[in-house]
Amino acid sequence: MASAPDATMTKPSERARRGLSISQRLSLIVLVVAVPMLMLVTGIVWRLGERERDAHSDAVNYAARNLLGAVDAQLGKYVAVAQLLAMSSGLERRNPGEFRADALRAMPGLPGAWVVLADVDGRQLVNTYVSGDETLPPIPPEALAPQRRAFETRQAQVVDVSIGPVAKIPVIAVAAPVFRNGSPAYSVFIAVDVAVFRDLLNAQRMPPGWLAAIVDGDGRFIARSLDHDRWVGKPVSPGWRPTMKQEGLFDTVSLEGERYITANAVSPLTGWTLGVAAKKDVFEEPVRLTLIIAALFGLAVTALSIILAAHLARRITRPIAAMETGARALRHRRQLDYVPTGVREIDHALEAFDIAAKDLRASEERYERLADATREGVLICDGERIVEANAGFLRMTGCEPGAVEHKCLGEFLAAEVRTEALQRLASSEGETIETLARRSDGTVFPAELSGGAVTYNGRHMRVALLRDLTTEKRAEEDRRALQHELMRASRLSEIGRMAAALAHELNQPLTAVVSYIGGCRRLLRAEPVDAGVAQRLRDVMDLANAQALRAGEVIRRTREFFGTGQTRRTVEDAATVIREASTLAIAAAKHNGIAIRADIGAAGHILVDKVQIQQVIVNLVRNGIEAMEDSPRKELAITLVARPDTIVLRVSDTGAGISEEMSGRLFKPFSSTKSQGMGIGLSVCREIVEAHEGRIWTEPGEGGGAVFCFSLPVVNEETAGHGL
Ligand code: ADP
Repeated sequence: MASAPDATMTKPSERARRGLSISQRLSLIVLVVAVPMLMLVTGIVWRLGERERDAHSDAVNYAARNLLGAVDAQLGKYVAVAQLLAMSSGLERRNPGEFRADALRAMPGLPGAWVVLADVDGRQLVNTYVSGDETLPPIPPEALAPQRRAFETRQAQVVDVSIGPVAKIPVIAVAAPVFRNGSPAYSVFIAVDVAVFRDLLNAQRMPPGWLAAIVDGDGRFIARSLDHDRWVGKPVSPGWRPTMKQEGLFDTVSLEGERYITANAVSPLTGWTLGVAAKKDVFEEPVRLTLIIAALFGLAVTALSIILAAHLARRITRPIAAMETGARALRHRRQLDYVPTGVREIDHALEAFDIAAKDLRASEERYERLADATREGVLICDGERIVEANAGFLRMTGCEPGAVEHKCLGEFLAAEVRTEALQRLASSEGETIETLARRSDGTVFPAELSGGAVTYNGRHMRVALLRDLTTEKRAEEDRRALQHELMRASRLSEIGRMAAALAHELNQPLTAVVSYIGGCRRLLRAEPVDAGVAQRLRDVMDLANAQALRAGEVIRRTREFFGTGQTRRTVEDAATVIREASTLAIAAAKHNGIAIRADIGAAGHILVDKVQIQQVIVNLVRNGIEAMEDSPRKELAITLVARPDTIVLRVSDTGAGISEEMSGRLFKPFSSTKSQGMGIGLSVCREIVEAHEGRIWTEPGEGGGAVFCFSLPVVNEETAGHGL
């Protein structure tokens, strides 16, 4: 079948275009895997950074506490010596000289420190920093408050940094109270050069970028590991100051303006703050570095994964593209010249596609050949639009291949029946519609149209079948004409037989007329009559005689013409002869709305005048039809029965049956119960059957109708086929 080009074959459908490509899918998978991975790695790195940071925090904290321990231990030593000297016997005896001697003895155990003895008013009585005979200035005012506190609490107190009035260098001091008779009497001061604490800081061996400082209760530097000499006695930076006397970790800005993370440790002994600071950069650098490395690593891994996914996608896309090509080839039933993709499953599938395409092509060719070979026109229509047409349709309508597709089916129907035929076709399923089809040249021909729904290329369409009825209609007309002819012949034959019967009946009286006239003439010759009259009588009788003879001759000739002796018999197949006659009879019966049942099986050969025997059958069938004219049930059965030496044909009807009045003279000429009937048919039938050595009779029908039967002898096989 020729097919219209399918636009959907070349372009992917809307539905197919909506999906994601393989590369998109793989990239999506990579992203789905890589992003959480990246987040996980970042989380781990972040956590590691935190731990690093915690480790740093712990380290500075530890260093601060360590320093605090060292400073407090050092001060403890000074406190112990001060308390020891407070119990000096020289003080008991109020002898400063003796006290000085005791103090000097304790000096070697106090590096960077010296002893000062002052009375309750702050007058210096002894100062081991200088020789004994020098004049000593009073205790500086900043030391007086701790001294008072020492008397009040009866505990040693620490004096914040100040410039020693004698040594003229920054010092701190430990003041121990001395009571005489329960009253404050003296204060023993151990003055310490703050360089002792600077050395203590330096001994800590801080890592590079670290800074340590000891700050007194007023927030002034006692010692600083960096630029000690410059900053000693000076207040701490404003960035650190607010955190003084608080323990913990703080963000601070140094005096140099640099950012530090500082761990504070506060001494319960002195109220001093010990600070160990690490530069923020140094502190956070490793964390930042690790984070940057991890992030870069993660990004690199993601980028690499996407590149790998794209590469894989390309590798996967090629076999899948081959599959797509294969599927297209299968759809178009094309041979698939494929290069193996290397993916086993896909190569198997491609091979299967190729085989399927070949099989499909072969099957479709077979189907097309079949469709084209049929004489019927086969159409596949989308609504009323023709999508495909077979060769039969092109032949029938005189169209060129390819000229029919996209046309409307209605164009091939006669205008006067078009709308009705299309409506009936659209609503019917399998119904056959007799209509008038139209050729491409505009000529119209009778046709039969039927249709049904089909699924074609996945769409709901209709198949329409068009059958050219021209030949059938012509054959029908021929058959009708033949039937008419046979009926006429049958009537003519009946008339002939009637004429023969009449001739037979009339011949005798005519013969008698002739003999009577002969007698008259003889009498006239014998008796003397008037010669003139006699002559006239003779002439008239001669004329009558001549006319009677002439009539007899005419009747004889007529009889001869219609006589039964002029037959030509041939050996015929009984079934064929009867079937031919039945076809004509059945057509007539159908016309009268009678149901016909013909049971005509093979029954041997008969030697007959075919036309005469067929005339008998037509007669019997016509009588049956006429007998059922007023019957409610109209059924006619023609049955051929084979007996050993004869065949018997039975014609039964469901009419009123044979009337009593007719039963005795049924086969006699001129016996009829019909107003228009001549009563010749059955007598002629008997004559023909008996002339063929057969027999004709009636039987009562089962349902009250009549059964007319006749038998004919069967001829043996050897004679069969020879005309006699
Ligand atoms: P016609 O048909 O002209 O009357 P036929 O010789 O064919 O002459 O029939 C003679 C008569 O026999 C008919 O008038 C009818 O009364 C009777 N007859 C013939 N066939 C049947 C039949 N099948 N059933 C009942 N009566 C019949």
